[in-house]
Amino acid sequence: MKKPSLPDIFYNVCNQHQKARPIMQKPYICGNHVVSTDMSMIIIADKNKYDTSGLEESADSLSENTEKIINRIKQTECIKPWQKIDIDDDEIVSFMDAKVTHGECYECDGNGYVYLSTSFNEYEIECLSCDGTGDHPTIPIWGHVCVDQVRVNPCYIFLINNADSYNTIDNQLFFRIGEISGTVLGMR
Ligand SMILES: [Zn+2]
Repeated sequence: MKKPSLPDIFYNVCNQHQKARPIMQKPYICGNHVVSTDMSMIIIADKNKYDTSGLEESADSLSENTEKIINRIKQTECIKPWQKIDIDDDEIVSFMDAKVTHGECYECDGNGYVYLSTSFNEYEIECLSCDGTGDHPTIPIWGHVCVDQVRVNPCYIFLINNADSYNTIDNQLFFRIGEISGTVLGMR
C-alpha cells in the first residue's frame, strides 16, 4: 500500500535557504521519526506513516540534540484544546516569502568573505556569520501572539492553527496536529 506523502507543513517549517545549516533545509530522518526544523520550531511524526523516500538520515551534529527534543515533545502532554487564532493574510504571505527567498549576510554583504587588514597585509577570510554562503535568511516578525504566557511569532501560529491540542511549558508551546507533534520557542 502506498503511504501518504509528507504533509506540506514539514516543508513550510524548514528553510531551504539556510545553506549554512543543512539540517534546516529539508525534512530529515532521526531514528523512527521524520523531523523538520528552522531552529525556532520543530515538528516530528512517525516516519513509517509517510512516504519518506528521498529523505536522508541526518549526520549533522545537531541531530544528537534532535533526539533529546523528540523525547521532550513526546513526553509533553498536550491537554488543552487549541482555539484557532486570527492571523492577518499579509503576515502569512510575507512569512512564506521569507522562507523561499533569502537576504544577504550583514557581515560580509553577501560575499561570503570578509577582509582583514593589518599594517603588513590584507587577508581574505571566510565569513563566520554565514559560513561563507553570503546568505542571511530571515523570518519577519510583526509583534507576537500570546498563547497563555508564551509569546509566539504569528508566522508559527499560522502553521499550527489547525492544531488539536497544546500545552505551554518553560516559554515553549507544544502542540499536536493529528499524527504530527512539535514545539515552538517563545520570544524573549
Ligand atoms: Zn557572511
